[in-house]
Parts: sequence; C-alpha cells; structure tokens
Amino acid sequence: MDAGQPETSRNGTRPVARDPWPGLMVVLSAPSGAGKGTIRQRLQQRLPGLVYAVSVTTRPRRPHEVDGVDYHFVTVEEFQRRVEAGELVEWARVYGNYYGTPREPMESWLREGRDVICEKDVQGALKLMDVYPEAVYIFAMPPSLAELKRRLEQRGTESAEARRQRLASADFEMACVDRYDYVVVNDDPDRAADDIVAIIRAEKLRVHHRRHLVEQVRAGGRIGG
Ligand code: 5GP
Repeated sequence: MDAGQPETSRNGTRPVARDPWPGLMVVLSAPSGAGKGTIRQRLQQRLPGLVYAVSVTTRPRRPHEVDGVDYHFVTVEEFQRRVEAGELVEWARVYGNYYGTPREPMESWLREGRDVICEKDVQGALKLMDVYPEAVYIFAMPPSLAELKRRLEQRGTESAEARRQRLASADFEMACVDRYDYVVVNDDPDRAADDIVAIIRAEKLRVHHRRHLVEQVRAGGRIGG
C-alpha cells in the first residue's frame, strides 16, 4: 500500500476507518422474492452460532412471520421515535413501508466476537458500507428475472402492482452489484447457503481476523491442540 493512502476494503471501494470488531458482520442483499429468507434459514442450520440481526419495520406481518424473529413489527410512530432517538444505523422506505437497522444489540454481538448476518435492500446495504466498511457484502441473485417473477407470484403476498414494482427494482439492484464483495446465485438455496459458508470461512481466515493468533505465536504461545 502506498504511504499516505487510506487503507481500503478488499474490493478497494470502501475506506476502512478502524480495526474490525472480532465478530464478522455479513450483509446479505437480494431483489425481493430472490429467496433471502430461505437462504438465511439454511445458513443458520449450518452455522448455529451465526446471529441474525432482526430489522425493525412498519410493514404488516405476513401470516408465517413471527414478531422479534423475522422483524420487529412496529407502528410508524414507534419507528419515528427510534429514528429520532438515534437507535437505527440506517433506515429506508421500501415499497411504501419503513425498514431500519437497530444499532444494538448488533454492535454488542460483534464486539463480543459473535458473527452476525443481516438482510438489507440495496439502498440499506450501500448506507451500511459507509458505516461498516469492514463488513462482508453479499448479493444473492435469482437465476433469472423470469424465475424471480414466478417466485413473487407463488409467494402471493403482494398485489400485481407491487410485484411489478419489485421486478423493476430488481434491475436497479443488480446494477449496483459492483459495490458488493460476493455474488451467490440462488437457484438452489442449499448451494447458496454452502457458498456463503465458504465465504464466511475464508473471511474469518483473513489477516485482520487472525492478527491476535499471530501475536500469540510470536509471544511464544501455541495455538490449537
Ligand atoms: P420484505 O418486506 O420483502 O421482507 O423486505 C422488503 C425489502 O426490505 C427487502 O429488500 C429487504 O432486504 C429490505 N429490508 C429488510 N430489512 C431492512 C433494513 O433494516 N433496512 C433496509 N434498508 N432494508 C431492509
């Protein structure tokens, strides 16, 4: 690295302002209907220690969703209170509803060394890149736009107009992919989850997550059994 140049993240687009926390933060984005929820479930089966940072939303709860597990479902007034109290790292209006990322307990988990995953739309992820440049940003892409359309129809939770809006956004979202670190294709959620496990494993072997081990060995210690 040239002297005087700010250190940047691995894809060179984000300045890294501080030493990363011991835990790894993973941000997953995908066009609506690309199957983020399923990937997340498969991922948690493979990595039970991975904590899901639950977002806050004013969107009405869908029948299969559980408050506090899928989202914290709140009123618009409560959402506004949280924004004004500075409790949200970022927030966005997506398809007419508000969504936001609570700073806590996510940052406490990361400081304690726990790995955290969260799901954001592209505008949310782009904002998080400024706040957490050291996080890993993964874009989950549907195998085709036709498949995305089919999944949205099958889910049946949106009106035809809302589905049309979501498909139009998918194109914009895919145009932002260069800001991300990795792309996984969600044709098979098990394979996508395996790919993300591989990404997390490699990221945790990066020098900045291993520096303490090197220091331990240099100080005469021994690692592992
Ligand atoms: P859905 O209503 O289908 O669960 O989510 C709609 C969109 O909002 C998805 O693209 C999802 O990733 C995004 N989203 C979920 N939580 C957050 C959040 O905390 N912040 C932002 N900016 N987007 C979010």
